Amino acid sequence: MDQNEFAVIHKKTSELLVAALERYNQNACQCAYPRFQQLIGIDCTETGDAFHCYDTELLINLSKKYFNIGVSNLNNENANEKWTCKKCQSVYEYGWQDFSIAVERQKLELVELKAKPIGKEASKPIPLYLGLAGHTYPPRTEIDQVSFEEFESYLMEKDRSALWKCLGNINWLRGIIKK
Ligand SMILES: [Zn+2]
Repeated sequence: MDQNEFAVIHKKTSELLVAALERYNQNACQCAYPRFQQLIGIDCTETGDAFHCYDTELLINLSKKYFNIGVSNLNNENANEKWTCKKCQSVYEYGWQDFSIAVERQKLELVELKAKPIGKEASKPIPLYLGLAGHTYPPRTEIDQVSFEEFESYLMEKDRSALWKCLGNINWLRGIIKK
């Protein structure tokens, strides 16, 4: 993929993430959505890897306007900040680090959740659309690249629940038995 192609899918993803954040904030706030927490929480330093996650970086950047940015008591990153949700006052620790000239990453770690979760459950492997770039990567059981449609339905919670899928299978079986 060349730079122009990447710019196009980056813009498309950015529009999706803006829409997802607007949806979360119409109903409650981003903090109440486990899938938001999951995506912003991808932090390669937890597993000793060194990669940049484009989807996570973009979501952190776009969600910044929903937070009040304050001073952190931590100093374990190149830059530390304390982010507090403007709506529910949940507290997060923001960090930025670079591992090399080519690879840097931001993280936003939930410290204290004050919103009642209302969003759908997060699942594994974590679906990404833009994906990762770096030196070492997590296994595909943890993080996997998916189509734009799958990524969209995951973040906008359009995917069918496990129960719904199960009911669908039962109806399908009934159809077969009748024949
Ligand atoms: Zn909140």
